[in-house]
Amino acid sequence: MPDSTDVIVVGAGLAGLVAATELTNAGRHVRVLEQEPEQNLGGQAFWSFGGLFFVDSPEQRRMGVHDSHALALADWMGTAAFDRPEDHWPRRWAEAYVDFAAGEKRAWLHAMGMRWFPVVGWAERGGYGAIGHGNSVPRFHVTWGTGPGVLEPFVRRAREAVAKGLLRFDFRHRVDELIVENGAVVGVRGTRLVD
Ligand SMILES: Cc1cc2nc3c(=O)[nH]c(=O)nc-3n(C[C@H](O)[C@H](O)[C@H](O)COP(=O)(O)OP(=O)(O)OC[C@H]3O[C@@H](n4cnc5c(N)ncnc54)[C@H](O)[C@@H]3O)c2cc1C
Repeated sequence: MPDSTDVIVVGAGLAGLVAATELTNAGRHVRVLEQEPEQNLGGQAFWSFGGLFFVDSPEQRRMGVHDSHALALADWMGTAAFDRPEDHWPRRWAEAYVDFAAGEKRAWLHAMGMRWFPVVGWAERGGYGAIGHGNSVPRFHVTWGTGPGVLEPFVRRAREAVAKGLLRFDFRHRVDELIVENGAVVGVRGTRLVD
């Protein structure tokens, strides 16, 4: 890798695009390695329904849905039933994600131009109670433009970062191995694929 690369991101799905564009917004030089060709930019999110998990949103309140951070966390814990030592980090991630979904998530995406259908759906409905499986209230906020509408701001920011020389995509580059030194990942090894 050239010395100018601060961070390598593996995969140009939604997670990779969000990570890469947050990093380039902070001035880092990023290289994204993606095993598929450029037509696959955005990964699964392109084909998705674009239903986003928000907690206590204006759309829910307008529909008379009473949601809260505590209820969403209870729903998640009731569904996941974290009870093993190795559940520590998944539990911490769930707590952080509920904080995000009840906090800055909607405003952050709204500021990038994303908008949602006024009717909130009730996906992963489960057993209708906060101690059982699933969402006990509707939380599925479908994005205008569905999956491509979710990707649009991140693809736009990625293209801007490419134009500024902060971001480079390498398609048809498959990562096969993480290089670990002294307990830290310092690079990757992989294969250039041919079409
Ligand atoms: C039809 C459908 C509908 C959906 N609807 C919704 C919905 O409404 N709401 C919702 O929240 N979720 C939905 N989802 C799920 C959601 O789309 C995914 O969870 C999300 O897009 C995953 O993003 P990701 O970046 O983590 O993974 P991916 O999109 O899978 O991206 C991973 C990328 O990494 C690349 N990659 C993998 N391994 C390597 C490697 N070794 N080297 C280089 N590149 C590699 C892959 O080629 C891929 O491009 C839906 C999914 C589908 C398929």
